[in-house]
This record gives sequence, C-alpha cells and structure tokens, in this order.
Amino acid sequence: MSKKNMLRLAALTAAAALALTACGDDAADPGTGNGGEGTLRIGTKYDQPGLGLDEGGTMSGFDVDVAKAVAEKLGYSEDQIEWSESPTPQRESMLETGQVDMIFATYSITDTRKEKVQFAGPYLVAGQDLLVKADDDSITGPQDLEGKLLCSVSGSTPAERVAEDYPGVQLQEYDTYSLCVEALAGGRVDALTTDDTILAGYAAQEQWAGQFKVVGAPFSEELYGVGIPKESDMCEQVNEALTELYEDGTMDEIIDKNFGPAGYTPAPGTNPPTPGGHCG
Ligand code: GLU
Repeated sequence: MSKKNMLRLAALTAAAALALTACGDDAADPGTGNGGEGTLRIGTKYDQPGLGLDEGGTMSGFDVDVAKAVAEKLGYSEDQIEWSESPTPQRESMLETGQVDMIFATYSITDTRKEKVQFAGPYLVAGQDLLVKADDDSITGPQDLEGKLLCSVSGSTPAERVAEDYPGVQLQEYDTYSLCVEALAGGRVDALTTDDTILAGYAAQEQWAGQFKVVGAPFSEELYGVGIPKESDMCEQVNEALTELYEDGTMDEIIDKNFGPAGYTPAPGTNPPTPGGHCG
C-alpha cells in the first residue's frame, strides 16, 4: 500500500472509530463497539447465487465480498460481521428499525427509497432483464409478455416497472427470486424478471444447468447502493471505501471472481459508477 493510501486508511479508520463510539452509546445498537471492536451488522440476500448466497452458514457472492471489503476498510475483520437475511420487501424497514447497520443486497437507489433510508454508492449498475426456459424463443423482451405469466418479487423496482409500463402482463409476485425460479422450472410461470446480475447467477447455478437463458436485452438502469439508516453518520465513509476499492483494483477482482463463472460482464457504458450523491 502506498504511503498516501495508508494515511487515508488511517484517517478513515479514525473517523470510523469516532462514528462507532457515537453508535455505541445508542441503546438500540448494542453490538457496535469502539474502533472496529464489536460487530458490524450487515444485511444481504441468502438465495441469490453469485450475489448473496448462504450455503450452510458460508456466505458468498459479489455483495458479500463488497461488504467484507468495505467492512475491512472501516476496521472490521470478517469474523466481526454479523450477517442477516434482508429480502427485497423488508430492506427499508430493517434499516428504519435499526436491525442492521448496512444492507448490501442488489439494492437499487431510488427516490422513493431515499425518503426512508440513505445510500452509499452506487457501486455497480445492473439492468432489468428476463429469464426464460432455454428452449423458449417467443419472449425477446417485455413487449412479448402480453398474456404471459411473469414472476417477480414484491417491492422490487423490476416488479414496479412492469406494473406501470406493461399493464397487460400478468404479474405473479413472491417474496424471493428463488421461489420464482422454482415456478419457472415447474412451468407455473413463463418468465422471471429482475436484474440481469441475478438472472445470470440462476442460469449458471449447477442445479439448473442448461434449463434457463437470460434474454439479454436490459431495459433499465439499476444503481446498486449500500442501504444505511438515515441517522447513521457512516455513509460518506462507505463512499470513500467504495471509491478506494475501485482505485486499488479490489472491485475488479471481486467482479471477476463472482460474475466470471456466470459469464456476466457489467455494462461498460454505465460501469464503473462514481459513488456519492445519495447520502443524507
Ligand atoms: N435491484 C432491484 C431492487 O432493488 C431488484 C433486485 C432486488 O429485488 O434485490 O429492487
């Protein structure tokens, strides 16, 4: 590490220590101690291969690795992270009630969500796409969904977009995308819509090998942010940490490691994004 980076890291760690001391006084936040002592409570997905996956207590995926790398920059080792599952419909309330300190969970930054929570990032830009059966050539984009049964998750931006922009589509909403994948495999729905990152992960998952394909015509920009409670003062520190992770090459390694196996490449026009502008 260069001297300049070491100094920046020292400053960042000191700032984090201060912030955490403040947090430690809060009765609603008993797990957080001084200067990286105690725990950092992080919410992520548990059922999204390549992004956030819990396999018998072992966490893996892009969001998990970004969370670990950010935690490290804030002075927390891996064993100081306390993971919990943050499904799409529960994310805002988990932050508002102080159940977690941060959420890394394919969490799109939106104005509506910003009324309730703040976001560090963006740290990746994904796009809404469709997952269909490998032999289905009838669906090439959302315009082909009229009269078809489409699955998504309630409270997600993809479900909201379909409801608004394609009112003729029959939308089946579940709490998790893995339930949608099972419905697609069982022929109970015709397609699944969410971010291309997530769909690529399912298509490549061993248990579904060869069964599905991602249509590959993204029709939105999903700016992934780190969800943080409004009253937290850690948002700018997380932005600095994310910026450093891009600058020092860590983010590229995390992207290759987690998206490589699924053959997914972040769209070059919108990536890498510049973190900032969504705190507060
Ligand atoms: N990124 C979208 C969202 O935050 C879809 C993925 C998800 O539900 O986590 O709503």
